[in-house]
Amino acid sequence: MTAANSIRKAMQNASWIRRMFEAGIALKAEIGAENVFDFSLGNPYLEPPEQFQQALIDLATNPPPGMHRYMPNAGFPSTRKAVAAALSAQEQVDLAPEDTVITVGAAGGLNTSLKALLDPGDEVIVLAPFFVEYLFYVPNHGGVAKVAETAADFDLDIDAIARTLSPRTKVVLINTPNNPTGCVYSQERMRELAKLLGEHERRLGRPVYLMADTPYAQITYDGQRNPMLFADHPNTLLVHSHSKDLGLAGERIGYIAINPAAQYRLELRNALTFCNRILGFVNAPAMMQLAMERALGATVDMTPYIEGRRLLCEGLAAAGYEFETPGGAFYLFPKTPIDDTEFVDILRAQNVLVVPGRGFGRPGHIRICYCVPPSVVERALPAFAEAFQAAQGA
Ligand code: PLP
Repeated sequence: MTAANSIRKAMQNASWIRRMFEAGIALKAEIGAENVFDFSLGNPYLEPPEQFQQALIDLATNPPPGMHRYMPNAGFPSTRKAVAAALSAQEQVDLAPEDTVITVGAAGGLNTSLKALLDPGDEVIVLAPFFVEYLFYVPNHGGVAKVAETAADFDLDIDAIARTLSPRTKVVLINTPNNPTGCVYSQERMRELAKLLGEHERRLGRPVYLMADTPYAQITYDGQRNPMLFADHPNTLLVHSHSKDLGLAGERIGYIAINPAAQYRLELRNALTFCNRILGFVNAPAMMQLAMERALGATVDMTPYIEGRRLLCEGLAAAGYEFETPGGAFYLFPKTPIDDTEFVDILRAQNVLVVPGRGFGRPGHIRICYCVPPSVVERALPAFAEAFQAAQGA
């Protein structure tokens, strides 16, 4: 046996998403990709905005001297300055460039942050349904993931989090707007969470960190806004990525920001920078940092997401599905009329691919990812309706 036992076990647990991915490849080979309605992966299909494309052209034709060399591990000073200015406006704080670390996407930022904070056995509270990678990132750094459920509308359930706190709790990891539910957490619940964490900090005599994973922060609907993340709990790290808002998932670019009100800020800055280095990232990709810096504030054209969401919500409601209308991101998480894995099989027989809720720690649901052309949503609606009917008769 070559692979470590821990890795073999982790790979078995990851099997749901992998199974859907493999089923998709097989089905596409069999009947042609154009005949498969693939809502299984959150891989944005929209092209990056014009500002980003132009920045790439400018950087390629007029490269700043030394652009491709090693740099400070936390990133180019100019990029950190631009990120700090943008976030200061967004969060209404005075963020210093030194409070930011440019990272290899959110995945890099989360791993760097967890590495910097966790001692072996430290607990990280994750909220179900969750982004499944959290369950791998936490033990990457010796931590133990503890799951707390969210409320019926998928907003924070403060009592459930309170019941999950322990003397070993070091981090509460939240994701808003949420994958897989599309829920945008309310500021009111964020305030209640901050109160709870503040009380726990006083009991323990040390920080309990709020880690906010926000790759979908700019993707919200109907005038909703992601909550202010630095407003309520001082010991907060914000982890952002441009995989979704700039459509750069393959380029691996994002950042961590430390709340200026956090305790031990200098130590945190140094620890995050050091961990970005020793995890092997060294620094985030150089050219992407500079291109992102010039495109900050721009986003992909969200019109297709708005239209896909409208079509899906109207179509599924008419077919009888029960769901919470997503306030952000590009995921819908409806209830299933029967066991979620059986329902996924019925949908697959109709050439529709989705992931069962149990893959995210919440059986009895499916995740439908609508970052696909709205025409795909439209053409798949009859199959969603038929599957629902078939399940009722099952
Ligand atoms: N966090 C959540 C909730 C996500 O949905 C994703 C990607 O889908 C990530 C983190 C990872 O993002 P990145 O591509 O920036 O590593």
